[in-house]
Amino acid sequence: MLLKPLATVLDIQRMSTEDGPGLRTTLFLKGCNLRCAWCHNPESIDARPVVQWNKVRCIGCHSCNEVCQNGALVFSEHGIFITAENCALCLACVEECPSGALNVKGEVFEAERLLTELLKDRAYFGEDGGVTISGGEPLLQPEAVTWLLEALKKAGLNTALDTAGLVKTDLLLRALRHADLLLYDIKLMDDAEHRRHTGGGNAQILENLVKTAPYLKESGKKLWIRTPIIPGSTDSKENIRAIAAFLAGSVRDAAERWELCAFNNLCRHKYESLDWDWGYKETALVTDYAMAELLLLAASELKGSNIEVYGTGSTRSTSTGKE
Ligand code: SF4
Ligand code: SF4
Repeated sequence: MLLKPLATVLDIQRMSTEDGPGLRTTLFLKGCNLRCAWCHNPESIDARPVVQWNKVRCIGCHSCNEVCQNGALVFSEHGIFITAENCALCLACVEECPSGALNVKGEVFEAERLLTELLKDRAYFGEDGGVTISGGEPLLQPEAVTWLLEALKKAGLNTALDTAGLVKTDLLLRALRHADLLLYDIKLMDDAEHRRHTGGGNAQILENLVKTAPYLKESGKKLWIRTPIIPGSTDSKENIRAIAAFLAGSVRDAAERWELCAFNNLCRHKYESLDWDWGYKETALVTDYAMAELLLLAASELKGSNIEVYGTGSTRSTSTGKE
């Protein structure tokens, strides 16, 4: 057993139904090494806890500035910016703000305290449910993830690890020893497109999956692949065909399911409250017709394999099948 590490947590989401089998608790860790243009969790990108300003709630009273001893708040015509390098996270501004326009995103937990929190939820896990560790990229905190997965397994819980896979292979394999399920993102097969839309290449991600698949199969652990269906970037038939060909070749005996996850824009308010521009703010949901076409294509490309194709997320109804 490793020494008890610290974990920087964004959120603990309870009664989750989208991060593995059954009813689960999903632990979102902070920090990410990709910059997906469609990111649904922008507050998870920064590895540190940060104070965030909410433009909509701010009444412009400047009380926060009066209590900050570090000159960390910068006021401009665009609003209030908190300079992370000056901020001591004393939270005086958060306590002083009369309108709740400042709050802290993220908290550092000792792993043992986090374990106690997670174990409180075991009453609703039933036979299938359990704990999923997600992010951000959880494996940027490998000691905490491995410690928690091991402790959760020892407590008899079902465990899942949700990763984008851009990490060293040995970190992934070490954490997987204590996971029942690996949730693994494959977004784009074309490396240049992957770099353009996510800020990083896909070579390590694909290589990790190829190296991990035999271990998953031998040890009876489950592998679910997830592809976000993002209009204008991952949703081409060419991309779906290329991912299917990769799955049918390198990981066909290990993967149990492939989820195509329809884009949603529910995170728009997060970008608004951060006062960040989001290129997908006006993007409509994927149509039911387009989603059905991609699902059919994925299933037909994997015909004869044991990989089941699923669609998740909301789509937009069309009566004609066209826009
Ligand atoms: S948390 Fe403390 S240091 Fe950081 S901006 Fe607020 S008052 Fe200043
Ligand atoms: S204290 Fe709160 S409401 Fe007042 S200026 Fe600062 S963020 Fe805005």
